[in-house]
Amino acid sequence: MAKKQFKSESKRLLEMMINSIYTQKEIFLRELVSNASDAIDKIYYRALTDDSLSFDKDRYYIKVSVDKQNRLLKISDTGIGMTKEELDKNLGVIAKSGSLAFKNENELKDGHNIIGQFGVGFYSAFMVADVVTVISKALDSEEAFKWESKGADGYRIDSCEKDSVGTDIILKIKENTEDESYDEFLEEYRLRTIIKKYSDFIRYPIKMDISGKRPKEGSEDNELEDYVEEQTINSMVPIWRKNKKELTAEDYENFYREKRYGFDQPLKHIHISVDGTLRYNAILFIPENTPFDFYTKEYEKGLELYSNGVLIMDKCADLLPDYFSFVKGMVDSEDLSLNISREMLQHDRQLKLIAKNIKSKIKNQLQSLLKDEREKYEKFYQSFGNQIKYGVYNNYGSNKEELKDLLMFYSSKEKKLVTLEEYVSRMPEEQKYIYYASGESHERIEKLPQTELVAEKGFEILYFTDDIDEFAIKMLMNYNEKEFRSVSSGDLGLEGEEEQNNTESEEKEHKELFEYMKNILSGSVKDVRPSKRLKTHPVCLASDGELSIEMEKILKSMPDSQNVKADKILEINTNHEIFESLKEAFENDKEKLDLYTKLMYNQALLIEGLPLQDPVEFTNDMCKIMV
Ligand code: ADP
Ligand code: MG
Repeated sequence: MAKKQFKSESKRLLEMMINSIYTQKEIFLRELVSNASDAIDKIYYRALTDDSLSFDKDRYYIKVSVDKQNRLLKISDTGIGMTKEELDKNLGVIAKSGSLAFKNENELKDGHNIIGQFGVGFYSAFMVADVVTVISKALDSEEAFKWESKGADGYRIDSCEKDSVGTDIILKIKENTEDESYDEFLEEYRLRTIIKKYSDFIRYPIKMDISGKRPKEGSEDNELEDYVEEQTINSMVPIWRKNKKELTAEDYENFYREKRYGFDQPLKHIHISVDGTLRYNAILFIPENTPFDFYTKEYEKGLELYSNGVLIMDKCADLLPDYFSFVKGMVDSEDLSLNISREMLQHDRQLKLIAKNIKSKIKNQLQSLLKDEREKYEKFYQSFGNQIKYGVYNNYGSNKEELKDLLMFYSSKEKKLVTLEEYVSRMPEEQKYIYYASGESHERIEKLPQTELVAEKGFEILYFTDDIDEFAIKMLMNYNEKEFRSVSSGDLGLEGEEEQNNTESEEKEHKELFEYMKNILSGSVKDVRPSKRLKTHPVCLASDGELSIEMEKILKSMPDSQNVKADKILEINTNHEIFESLKEAFENDKEKLDLYTKLMYNQALLIEGLPLQDPVEFTNDMCKIMV
């Protein structure tokens, strides 16, 4: 038969593919093995309806063999085969099933990128081979045919001999070049690894002749002999297609380790089998420990994506929302095409639906963990709680409703992590707000003067020790209509009439004193006031407005920090002895009052964990009152 040209579109792609530096050349094997498996499937489905055909399982397999000397790699199958017309039709047009995507000229120019993600099917063989030969005998056909091509310049089809039905794909592997090695595709071990990686769950056996050494029989001095043995490389039935009831926790743990999802024990597995308009299987894991790179830029979220048992992507990021980026695992769907690019996946409706479905399954799982296995949930929360908090905060809080019930904070009363629901359910009727206090550690927060009044009223206080806490809560605004309130905020909403009047009259009575102090500290504080919240402590800082002192600290510590400032209020406990001294000094010794005011302000800064403006001046001032 005369030489034929590829269809023009095919030709261009072929040239591009062969000439581009392709980082994942190894996927050619995945493609050829998948085609072989498809061909066996076709016999299988035919046998279901055709009584004259029986599907004898043992007769159907794929065999990969190597002839190193001649640089030949052969992939044979006992599948349905191709007639002459089919060879012409199926192998004459490139990437038939995925050809749509090649329409875009711009994309074509950027071939490097798209090919990397494409199952380009049969033609990917040309990435590693100079010559590709296909010998095929179709089911119900007496003749066999040979299709052969050296790449872009076309192909020819001739008749040939083949005993059994099926197809052999023979690749003449390229010679090594200066910067590319192709020898690896003739190495038993390497081929085996590639098959394991991509094609482990192909339903039919993939066989290879594996060579090894064994002790020679009858030999006394441990002499070894070479031997070759045909082995099945793939495990065939993937765990996610098995019945959940037949699987043990250990099976899942083994899978987790085999897949190297993590080095820890998974805290929980989620096995999903959805069948209906949306069809997919998934096995997901919630790890126990934070991966060492979790909070770095290197960490990549994503799930493995399989199309009908064949791996098409290592880390499909679109399957997980950022706030669940700790989840590991895989998704397999029959409805996804092998020939799909990353760009196309993003718009894939099916994938979007799966992602949505997965999201709600993860959430439900976490919620039931919280309900039924509290200890495990707390463990999870220690590892990944921050991620949930970021989830509440990010995207302008668009996911906060979804996530708010997964939040936990340490409680002053319970001395352990509690949920917001638990907090609110315990609130006495007269309590208006959900109170919280921010600080470095539980121990430090416990001692904060600002907590005194709230604690005295017997109200529970949530301790915020992570940077993100207050930001997340500000985004949340309220929980079940209860607003959040910092113990340092201007209005605590709990002073009784009496206290209210007291401080008010105090403020009036000593207006000049407070004004004087405020002037001394002008630029540093917005106001100096008698405190309503202090009981035994002399002094503290409070804040007015949206930005709290804790938030100011966090924002200031960021690399591109802006000059943000909380509106600070210096609060003086007018029931404390120190107030007598202040009044005294105001009457008789203004210089002393200057000194006291500055000292008190600096003390308040220290309590907050804020830096002193001038530590040397502070220590000198301290000494002044000692001598
Ligand atoms: P796709 O698999 O997406 O259809 P390919 O480029 O991988 O695209 O293959 C093109 C076509 O060639 C297949 O659809 C199939 O009809 C045919 N084909 C390829 N390999 C084989 C094989 N081993 N046995 C039978 N048919 C095959
Ligand atoms: Mg294919």
